[in-house]
Amino acid sequence: MSIGIYLHIPYCTVRCSYCDFYLTAGRGPDLAAYVAALVGEIGAFEAALRGRPVDTIHFGGGTPSLLPPAMIGAVLEALGSAFAIDAGAEIAVEANPEDLDERRCDDLAAAGVNRIAIGVQAFDDRLLRTLRRPHDAARARRALAAARRSPIRSVGADLILGLPEQGISAALAGVRDAVALGVDHLSLYLLEIHPRTRLGREVALGRCRPAADDEAASLYEAAADTLLAAGFEHYEISNFARPGCRSRHNLKYWTDQDYLGFGPSAHSYVGGARWSNAPELAAYLAAGGVALPRLDDPQPRGRRGFEALFAGLRLAEGVDLDDLRRRYPETVPAQLATAISALRDAGLLAGDGARIALTRRGRLVSNEVFERLDVASAVVS
Ligand code: SF4
Repeated sequence: MSIGIYLHIPYCTVRCSYCDFYLTAGRGPDLAAYVAALVGEIGAFEAALRGRPVDTIHFGGGTPSLLPPAMIGAVLEALGSAFAIDAGAEIAVEANPEDLDERRCDDLAAAGVNRIAIGVQAFDDRLLRTLRRPHDAARARRALAAARRSPIRSVGADLILGLPEQGISAALAGVRDAVALGVDHLSLYLLEIHPRTRLGREVALGRCRPAADDEAASLYEAAADTLLAAGFEHYEISNFARPGCRSRHNLKYWTDQDYLGFGPSAHSYVGGARWSNAPELAAYLAAGGVALPRLDDPQPRGRRGFEALFAGLRLAEGVDLDDLRRRYPETVPAQLATAISALRDAGLLAGDGARIALTRRGRLVSNEVFERLDVASAVVS
């Protein structure tokens, strides 16, 4: 079966105020050395997996659009030597608006990129400054227009909802702006406050206030309605797509399929084994990407089955419990059936027969649903 490949680019020019990802912020990273290390890691990859068919490749980060298109092309070439890349593979890059103009989009397409997700976050300069994003709203509009005019087939945007003093009408205007600019995929994230981030400290000091949970939920509902009316499908808790434009790479995570990650901190999941690369950029560069320590994540099969359940419930179509039981016979014992039945009674899960899915209300409190299922999983793990 085809696998997905994830390439982690751990650099950003500045750290956004809400971000707690593993990355190095600042201008002037040695991108050539990093790409050489990625190519080294791909070239030295274990023989057993070489030659496997690959149908999705995803450059994530960090800010992958810091890489010049020629470097993306060099990584794709290395992947082409190590794996059997499908002719119709999805090749996606996450990009920041300040890195994109028409020339850059054309060059990315020429390098093989056919999908781009642009981190717009908001179309409001005041909010963008709060988030410490390096772009302004006009730059975001120009980047989306340039990408849409280029040969890149699928163009998406990320927006954050529930920002401090954002207001419902401004947030919905942002969603409508993105649609008007021709995106075929939108990721809508509710702002999460991490205590160790700059924004987390501002919130703790009372200097700004993100939307309350019920405000954020109403905002999310209204945004979802706007997108459904515009012809988008709400196919995953945070993701909307025009028909045929779903992220095939991210679907691998949500449908329990195999993927390989390259770069420090990247995760892999192949044949039931889960591991990650050590999050050590300096060591990775020094070793040219070769022989990086792997952190194995040994999990009992029952636990893996629960993770497949949680991931699948993120999707609108939900999970087929009979199928899950076939793949993970240890996972669907009586305790889980009791938890599912209680969540059905509470109106948070729905479904006939073996298939279950979050209801609309369940999506808004998905963390609570997963916690309740997790309690059931702890009983049997
Ligand atoms: S661009 Fe993305 S990865 Fe980089 S600092 Fe901002 S939120 Fe974090």
